[in-house]
Amino acid sequence: MPAARCEICGAEFERAPNESWKKLCYPCWREKQEKSQVVALRRRLASLEDALDEKDSLIASLDGLVDYQEQVIAHLKERLAHTEGWLTLLQQHSRFLLLACHPDRNPAHADTATAVTQALLALRKQEAAGNPAPRPPGH
Ligand SMILES: [Zn+2]
Repeated sequence: MPAARCEICGAEFERAPNESWKKLCYPCWREKQEKSQVVALRRRLASLEDALDEKDSLIASLDGLVDYQEQVIAHLKERLAHTEGWLTLLQQHSRFLLLACHPDRNPAHADTATAVTQALLALRKQEAAGNPAPRPPGH
């Protein structure tokens, strides 16, 4: 088998007549292959590190959003407790309030009396219907 000279180390190596494309001895060819694999792996690692940084910053902003939502929920719970207090009061005294606010008894404030009476009747109707809470999706 004819010999060729390695372009890197200068060592002689055997190659077939139809293998003129072989310019390197096997150890040099192998080293070159490994180096290009290392370069590709380093590039891949760098792109994964970039993606990880992006995910970390996304997680940080989602954490901020969760904190904000928790504050909003706490605020809404407070408002709800306050509103429930008022609703309980209105329900407990609805009979008295409907009598006291009836437009016939309040001719000087007929518009206000009508509006309050309608609101009290709507509240009573809503309570009678049970006013169910919404269900989570998929249930
Ligand atoms: Zn070589």
